[in-house]
Amino acid sequence: MKIKTDVAVIGAGVIGSAVAMNLVAPGSRGNAPEVVVVDLDLEGSFSSSELNAGGVRAIWNHPINIQLSKASIDYYESVAEEVGLRQQGYFWMYSKDQWASASGRIAENAKTYGLPVEFLEPPQITGRHPFLNKVSDLGGATFSPRDGLINPNLLKNHFRSQAASRGAVFEDRVYVTGIEQNGLRVKVIGTKFSTPLTDTQRALLLTKHLIPENLTFEKIEIDCEKLVIAGGAWACQFQEMLGVPVVSRPVRRQVSLFESKAVDLTDKGMFVDPSGVYFHAEAQFVLSGFAIESEPDGFNFDYDGQSFFEEHIWSALHERSSGFEMLKHVTGWAGLYEVSPDRCGIMGSVNNSSQIFEAHSFSGRGVMQSWAVGRGLSELILNERFETIDLAALSGERFKEGKLVRENLLI
Ligand SMILES: Cc1cc2nc3c(=O)[nH]c(=O)nc-3n(C[C@H](O)[C@H](O)[C@H](O)COP(=O)(O)OP(=O)(O)OC[C@H]3O[C@@H](n4cnc5c(N)ncnc54)[C@H](O)[C@@H]3O)c2cc1C
Repeated sequence: MKIKTDVAVIGAGVIGSAVAMNLVAPGSRGNAPEVVVVDLDLEGSFSSSELNAGGVRAIWNHPINIQLSKASIDYYESVAEEVGLRQQGYFWMYSKDQWASASGRIAENAKTYGLPVEFLEPPQITGRHPFLNKVSDLGGATFSPRDGLINPNLLKNHFRSQAASRGAVFEDRVYVTGIEQNGLRVKVIGTKFSTPLTDTQRALLLTKHLIPENLTFEKIEIDCEKLVIAGGAWACQFQEMLGVPVVSRPVRRQVSLFESKAVDLTDKGMFVDPSGVYFHAEAQFVLSGFAIESEPDGFNFDYDGQSFFEEHIWSALHERSSGFEMLKHVTGWAGLYEVSPDRCGIMGSVNNSSQIFEAHSFSGRGVMQSWAVGRGLSELILNERFETIDLAALSGERFKEGKLVRENLLI
């Protein structure tokens, strides 16, 4: 099977779908390009876009993170119902030793970027949320009411339907195995499976990189002028294919769902505890996650279950609230963060090429920043420069030059 197109995008998660939508958006200068997006699995069973916590916030320390999130939230507000945006705020608690510097920086950024933020002392924390009744270790909390939660699946499908309505094509069951540069054209080589794959077969490809037996497939070649790598936590494999330094790592992140009879969070947004545990209402349950610092790299989707919940989630939550002493673990899952050396996203042209571009490694913020990432990358591809936000600092070249993007408001 051979396809010829102007732009090919590898990866149809929120980032690849947002890039496709922005490439064909009515505002793009000149004629919109032909765009083909390929993915092994358009449903995204193993994609981070389907396995995340759905938080959106413009409260960050680095101006680039603030601007990417703020511009995206402005867009999400314009389609709030369609993408399930719930602006019920981020309530972020800090320990005594974190508070002075954190609140100072946030106040400065809030003023510069016009972000609404409230600053609360420990008694006001309990006053606002009586279930937060163990606050003697806290220095304070911030509440940012424009932030909150989104439905990542609806968001991805919104990007896709906008892109498809203007001609972008989404090719399912394509597993990319190679990229070749021939003069002014780029060739993407892969395998197109003719029937749907089971989760076990997808797992074999996406965790062990082995082609399952007994499946019918044909070779696919996509001849394009420009290529976008939007492969999420699999970015390292595309860096290998391109022969550029492998700087991105896949790292497992787990979330638990539990029942909380004593504390009702249904009309509230995201809470972040100084321990690093975050939580919010998810249907009739509470969703809570925690990043284990010593987690090794790898394509690991195993959820550690009750032991993860007890050791990392429940132990921190019951230190914060007597209402969290009795919780019932229901289920949970593991997904992948895509982590760069400074834990900030990578986007721009690969190796200063005018043909190959990338947008990945957004670790815990790919959903909340996806729209502005898509817009920024399409500006660079179509107009050869960033026009609305200067995103040059996110280029992958920064690691060679030692120009890291410093951000420490991470969960
Ligand atoms: C537990 C967890 C919680 C998170 N919480 C948040 C949050 O609250 N807010 C937030 O903004 N972000 C959060 N994130 C991060 C966010 O989910 C990601 O940054 C974002 O989804 C990345 O999107 P993507 O499109 O780059 O990658 P993905 O969604 O992973 O898409 C990559 C796609 O590439 C495809 N692919 C890979 N290799 C190949 C190949 N060889 N051939 C063809 N296709 C291939 C995959 O099938 C996949 O569909 C969280 C992530 C996790 C794991």
